[in-house]
Order: sequence, then structure tokens, then C-alpha cells
Amino acid sequence: MKENFNECTEEDSRILKVQVVAVDMKHVVIICPVCGQFHWHGTGGFGINKLNYGTRVPHCTTKDIAKKCDKSEPYKEYELITSKETIRREKTLPKDLTAWRSRQRSVRRDMEEQWRLKEEADRDERILKTVRDISRMERWLISDAAMVAPIHVTRWMNRHGIYYEDGQYRVVFASKASPELCEIFGKYEDKK
Ligand SMILES: [Zn+2]
Repeated sequence: MKENFNECTEEDSRILKVQVVAVDMKHVVIICPVCGQFHWHGTGGFGINKLNYGTRVPHCTTKDIAKKCDKSEPYKEYELITSKETIRREKTLPKDLTAWRSRQRSVRRDMEEQWRLKEEADRDERILKTVRDISRMERWLISDAAMVAPIHVTRWMNRHGIYYEDGQYRVVFASKASPELCEIFGKYEDKK
């Protein structure tokens, strides 16, 4: 069920198909594949019995949260398709969506997790690029150049077995560091 909201079908990977939650004389309600909230689109006067309400451009992409989820392709369209679960009323009220609420929350939760992972990966990538680029290895310099909070530099270092010792970063646990990082920072045992 969930994949209807978030993934493309194999037959047509170009356009995202989004299931319509409810339709009335004026509105088509969906769980937005960009931000995971309920969105109310206009039906375009097509009535309540159509199966397919055409394609739409997400109108939430100007909000920061939506930008986060797909920076490379923020304006991709999606196609609005109904199913037997679609609520069809003369007039949809917000309370009519209650039956869909838990599914909406779960879609949103999954998205937030994806955004968090992506943010983390982007941060890690910027830190790695920075330690490759700069020769001075003070925490504030790295955090500044990589545009991350200092605590993320510390966490990244520790995750890679690197600790601040005697005024400089060194690889203490070589099993956690790549050969490249051992080369950049030097190993603790090498200084002895
Ligand atoms: Zn949205």
C-alpha cells in the first residue's frame, strides 16, 4: 500500500503515481509524495467519479521541509489516481480523512527518516571532503569549512577511530579508519 505514495511503478518510472485519499465536487485530497502531508488540490470540475485526476505539480516545494526531501528534482510532477479506498463525497471535511490519518503519519515518518539519513550522509561527505582539502586540522576549521556543527566533526572523527590527542587528531583505532584517513591523520602508534 505504502509504495503507492512513494515509488514509481515499473511500467512508468518517469512519473510518480499518487493515490487519491478523497474526492469531492471541488477537491482531490492526497497524501503528498513530497512532504507527506494531506494536500487539497482542485478537481478542475471533473466531478467525483473519475478514476484519474491527471498530473499535478507539488505546491509545497517552496517550503524548506519539502526542499530537503528532493533537492535535485523538487518540481517533479505526480499523477493522481483513485482506488476503491478513495472517499467520494459531495463535500469532503477534514474529519473524513481520519481513516487515512495513521497512514499519512506513517508516510510522513518514513520521509522524515529519509531526510535525516540524507542530511547525515551529506554532512559526512562534506567533512570527508574538508579533511582531504585542508591541511590544518583544528575542529573549528573543519566545522567551518564543512559547514557543520563542531559536535558533528567530533562524532565523525570518533566514528572513524580518530581522537584528539596531544593537540592533534590521530587515528587511535585503525580498524575503524580507512587507509586514506590513516595517511591524513597519522596513527597513534606511529608517533611512539
Ligand atoms: Zn506536499
